[in-house]
Amino acid sequence: MEDFDYDLFVIGAGSGGVRTARMSAQYGARVAIAEDRQLGGTCVNVGCIPKKFFVYASEFSHAFRDAGSYGWRVGETDFDWPTLRDNKTREIERLNDVYGNLLDNAGVDLVEGRATITGPQSVRVGERQFRTRYILVAVGGWPYVPEFPGREHVISSNEVFYLEHFPRRVAIVGGGYIAVEFAGIFHGLGVDTHLIYRGELFLRGFDRDIRQSLADQMAGQGVDVRFQSHVERVDKNADGTLAVTLAEGDVLEVDAVVYATGRRPMTAGLGLANTAVELTDTGAIVVDDRFRTAEPSIYALGDVIGHMELTPVAIAEGMALSANLFNGGDTTMDYDNIPTAIFSQPPIGTVGLDEDAARERYGDIRVYRTSFRPLKQTLTGGHDKIMMKLIVDAASERVVGCHMLGDEAGEIIQGFAVAMKAGATKADFDATVGVHPTAAEEFVTMRSPV
Ligand code: NDP
Repeated sequence: MEDFDYDLFVIGAGSGGVRTARMSAQYGARVAIAEDRQLGGTCVNVGCIPKKFFVYASEFSHAFRDAGSYGWRVGETDFDWPTLRDNKTREIERLNDVYGNLLDNAGVDLVEGRATITGPQSVRVGERQFRTRYILVAVGGWPYVPEFPGREHVISSNEVFYLEHFPRRVAIVGGGYIAVEFAGIFHGLGVDTHLIYRGELFLRGFDRDIRQSLADQMAGQGVDVRFQSHVERVDKNADGTLAVTLAEGDVLEVDAVVYATGRRPMTAGLGLANTAVELTDTGAIVVDDRFRTAEPSIYALGDVIGHMELTPVAIAEGMALSANLFNGGDTTMDYDNIPTAIFSQPPIGTVGLDEDAARERYGDIRVYRTSFRPLKQTLTGGHDKIMMKLIVDAASERVVGCHMLGDEAGEIIQGFAVAMKAGATKADFDATVGVHPTAAEEFVTMRSPV
């Protein structure tokens, strides 16, 4: 028998790596995990968690705006960026410690530093060499910024979390989760916000009606939403502000330009050339349905495999892999009906297929759609609209898509995801009594297809 230091050496202590390490150790494996930054990965440090704090911060402006109609006299309000930024950072540091304790309690050895794979079963961190039965690559991704003149002047979401000076005017480039979420955050915090997207409508891949309604509402709130718009160059002015020249001719004067044009797997410099591991064109590690790479002793999961870049997906993948390796399991991951939320303002919650994808897959579908003013806004005269959609496969009667745009959409969609996972039909939805008065009850009271 070979003499290994570890049964599993995990590279990357983000959501997927930490969960796999902990579960594997609990199954009795000898596990080490290497990390060269803070524990917790993108989600904890520069993603989901601090982003949500910023969303909460920006939503106060809506509450201040509406409060008068409910009888409150709100004095002058003022936003202090350093307070938010530093309170956020303190909480993230606490979470870094929590992750450290979780690993420690599970008996996982933490190896601080950058790991390089030196062979199919060997890893080097600094001066230390480790022999390991298996390697798991869970190094995640990093913001991608395309090449263009002035690229050096722009920042990504990574930097937004630590900005020294809060911008008064910002241009955000991209049309995915991050661009749309940060547009809402900045606008809510009183920043003059431009959103620049190259396509005809942002959030490609989500339901078209929901995307259109969000675009209309963001524009109605005062975000400068520009579709089919392209950045030609970014120049730094003498006073340190930035000029964004668009191919369409306009020049936007701003204090910061945030690129949210996707993320790329962080596979460079990992030493994968010392193995048979294969990469896609964008640098993602190719794995089979059990997270095996082309090198039998090396596995990969989470953002680095480029499937679905979502924390709960990486965690579920880690649960499956650890059970397969060390608990006699033979599980694959089911990527159907994975719910997700975009914390735009208003937010989107979605599970299953959008209308176009459902029509393509099932042919004969029924679509139920409703759009209405939130009850809370009937006193304030606000213009927000909630939109909900159900997509039903006519042959099986099963609900195959459930989409919402409106407050608490992320919270609401989780329960419907359970129903869909269980194969709920439209008749099951109809037989469910609503919770009144809520927005969510509309999901069980829509009777006439469009
Ligand atoms: P996305 O892949 O979601 O979106 C990237 C956007 O950038 C797309 O609109 C794309 O346009 C555009 N784009 C890509 N390349 C260029 C280019 N060269 N020039 C101009 N525009 C370009 O990436 P994000 O960065 O928004 O987020 C990364 C991932 O992180 C998400 O996919 C998501 O999985 C995850 N995430 C999840 C969140 C959540 O769960 N709430 C929150 C934030 C991130 P096009 O559509 O035309 O290709």
